[in-house]
Amino acid sequence: MFQTILDMIYPPRCPICGKIIIPKKNKICDPCRAKLQYITEPRCKKCSKPIEQEEKEFCSDCERRDFHFTKGYAVWIYDEAMKRSIAGFKYYNKREYADFYIEELLRIYGDKIRKFSPDAIVPIPLHRSKYRARGYNQADVLACGLGKGLHYPVLSNLLVRNKKTLPQKQLSDRERLRNLQEAFAYNKTVAVRFHKELDRILLVDDIFTTGSTIEACTNVLISNGVKDIRFITLCIGRGY
Ligand SMILES: [Zn+2]
Ligand SMILES: [Zn+2]
Repeated sequence: MFQTILDMIYPPRCPICGKIIIPKKNKICDPCRAKLQYITEPRCKKCSKPIEQEEKEFCSDCERRDFHFTKGYAVWIYDEAMKRSIAGFKYYNKREYADFYIEELLRIYGDKIRKFSPDAIVPIPLHRSKYRARGYNQADVLACGLGKGLHYPVLSNLLVRNKKTLPQKQLSDRERLRNLQEAFAYNKTVAVRFHKELDRILLVDDIFTTGSTIEACTNVLISNGVKDIRFITLCIGRGY
């Protein structure tokens, strides 16, 4: 009843074009769904970025760099449409877009995550000041949706972002990683309260671009005894 009234006042809007969705039970309008670029084969066996040649196993980034996560998954290419959608989700309080994102994450990767069977799902943290300004961590919204849908615990504060990172654009991969590495810390109190070994963790973020953020968090987890770290994101860049 309450939801019905809410839907009348704020009818659900398409996460891509922002128009009111018809029929109402859908989470995206049909023309927008058709426009989205879902990631298909051939893709990198490690990070899942689409690659050009089927014969190749890995994308150029994974060939060049020694990433320590085991594997990663992403739903869409980070194109203009998704860029706009995620910007709305992150910066303009369009938290309701998560309903569609989570539905797709579960539909496409639910089985793979179940097979991995993580001990916990962990979002990439935001710095306190950003969290205060936004009121939510978009990665945590996704992590909680996955946890709820698949019945895995979510440890929203296992990783903490201690310092604001410098602008990353002018830095080399190595500098970028060092810069980021220092930004993340492992919250031992959360781990102890969990009362269970944390061997396998699924990291969650909205986008995977250079991979440096995921790699920095992976390294922090590894140095605290986690053995198998995978990630899932909404979007990923192209691997060529
Ligand atoms: Zn639309
Ligand atoms: Zn790759």
